[in-house]
Amino acid sequence: MMINIKNAQPIIRLTAVSRRFSLESGEVEVLHDINLAINSGEMVAIMGPSGSGKSTLMNILGCLDNPSSGHYWVKGVAVKQCSVEERARLRREKFGFVFQRYHLIPALTVIENVAMPARYAHWTRAARREKAQRLLNELGLRGFENREVSRLSGGQQQRVSIARALINGANIILADEPTGALDSQTGKAVMQLLQKLHRQGHTVIVITHDPEVARYAERVVQLVDGRMVSDSHFVDKEVIYRHVNSKAVLTLAPLPCPSTEPRRWHHRCESIFDVLISAWRTLSAHRLRSSLTLLGIVIGIVSVVTLNAAGEGAKQYVMKTLSSLGGNVITLYAGKGLGDDDTAGVRSLRERDLTLLAAQPWIRTLSPQVNLNLRVRWQRADTAVNVNGVGADYLDTVSLKAVQGRSLLARDIEQHAAVVVIDENLLKKLFRRQQNPIGQTILVGNLPCRVVGVMRNTSALPANIFNLWLPWSTANSRLLGQDWFNSIAITLQDEVQTPRARIALQTLLTRLHGRQDFYLQDSSAFISSIEKTSFALTVFLSLIALVSLLVGGIGVMNIMLVSVTERTRETGIRLAVGARPRDIQWQFLTEAVLLCMIGAAIGVTLSLTMGGLFSLFVQSWQLVYSLESLLMATCCAVAVGIISGWLPAWRAARLDPAEALTRE
Ligand code: ADP
Ligand code: MG
Repeated sequence: MMINIKNAQPIIRLTAVSRRFSLESGEVEVLHDINLAINSGEMVAIMGPSGSGKSTLMNILGCLDNPSSGHYWVKGVAVKQCSVEERARLRREKFGFVFQRYHLIPALTVIENVAMPARYAHWTRAARREKAQRLLNELGLRGFENREVSRLSGGQQQRVSIARALINGANIILADEPTGALDSQTGKAVMQLLQKLHRQGHTVIVITHDPEVARYAERVVQLVDGRMVSDSHFVDKEVIYRHVNSKAVLTLAPLPCPSTEPRRWHHRCESIFDVLISAWRTLSAHRLRSSLTLLGIVIGIVSVVTLNAAGEGAKQYVMKTLSSLGGNVITLYAGKGLGDDDTAGVRSLRERDLTLLAAQPWIRTLSPQVNLNLRVRWQRADTAVNVNGVGADYLDTVSLKAVQGRSLLARDIEQHAAVVVIDENLLKKLFRRQQNPIGQTILVGNLPCRVVGVMRNTSALPANIFNLWLPWSTANSRLLGQDWFNSIAITLQDEVQTPRARIALQTLLTRLHGRQDFYLQDSSAFISSIEKTSFALTVFLSLIALVSLLVGGIGVMNIMLVSVTERTRETGIRLAVGARPRDIQWQFLTEAVLLCMIGAAIGVTLSLTMGGLFSLFVQSWQLVYSLESLLMATCCAVAVGIISGWLPAWRAARLDPAEALTRE
């Protein structure tokens, strides 16, 4: 009287199905020659004592396991010919599983557990939450949506798992001992629920060893030692339906399922977001362990970023020091070449050279130099001094800064002014402390000169020599009585390259002089070798740091492998509700990458903080962070995540669903 209208074609058909397991002791056959056809809308109980092969049969029915021989069709689809993906799809769309021990995922909330199968069916977030909420309401779980599942009673957990079985609109409900872990009253309620679903048109297959439970079914299949021994149909189910009718809980009208076609980028973003959230959930469920693993990555990233910044900082420091030594200056000397032992008599550099060079637009500054040693006297002090006749730009070119007074000016040069600039050593030698040297007149050789400035001592100046600078014009006309220079210091415009400038200078001056009675020197070769050395050093330091990142990566891989093993059952559940192997792979991979990215973020922040603190205490050189090095570190972290997550993820994706489900 309450029998549903049955289709002519059975929804499930098994012919001569057997299942063998290979054990160390040899092969055992657990199911023998099962022939079974179940029609759409039937409620079937599969009964048998413990160990009779009921669960094995259910795994085959639910496409979690393959028969060793024989054939199996679901809605006319031959399961044997299905790929792994297609079987996942069958599980997702055709079956809903209800297990004895509920098999909910503890890291997820109630509603997330219910909505999980819909996620694998690519529903939008909103659609699956809406349907999950409706199912929960109708199953009497309103208000429990955001609870942890472990906080629910057995009966409630089983209702959550029924909601999960229903969310994708599956027609066939497979329940393996659904009341096995429940007290008799709760068990009865669960059975009534299943019966209600059956009355709405679902095909319900219940596995049980309990005759009381089997009474709810209209058909009972008996299994003993892996063989079907009986298959009986009961038509009169009035007694039990009375219970159900008195408590009509379920009013579920079948909901249309959203399309399972993945939609465009919006949908992809959402699904990446979902995976990230669930990865975050899992990581935060094991805080201590995740933090320790994170620490490995953080240390790796901090060392990569910091050592890189230190290398770059060292390089810039060296370059700065070099440029204060006149690193970017080309010097033009009189004579045939370095080591010419008769330069004193060479008078090749003269004012005509200055005039010619000053007309070249690619030359930025130009300063002739004449050098001599003279005694300098002031009051009772008397000392030998290195006297440099220079141009107005010279002091600036070699980065000498005035601590008192001023530098030499162009008008000093023009006027052949008797003014001098001294260094701090000479200041101390000549003057007493507190005495203002500016404006004092000192004797340079026999020429009285006014002190106009004091230069700060730098590493560019030899410490054991006193230095003094005056206009080259003054030196030539009033001290030496000559019209030639020892050398000319030239700096170039920024965009001009030193080697090309050298060639131009060579050509110009040779043409002017008619012969080569000068030579050029610059430190560009030296600078580029320093650059190469410091680059090699930075790379070397970064490689060492990468090793520590690698160690961090091994830590991630280790913990992911543990996690895969630990969560085998969870993976089994996900596979059972229809996750594709690649969904599983993505999930574990995302966890590893997320872990490494968090590590990278913390590591970069930490390293930047360290750089900031360092610059508070050390002034002379600083850690220099480049955007590229930060990006590189992040890429390294992602790469480490992918590499270390790959193997565990691949292992998880390869798990056999039936076996994974039974693993404790
Ligand atoms: P039931 O669910 O009826 O209690 P099962 O289907 O779980 O029985 O198991 C039936 C028999 O098959 C048992 O003897 C069990 O030891 C054996 N069995 C089940 N799964 C495996 C397996 N993966 N490897 C070897 N033997 C198995
Ligand atoms: Mg069992």
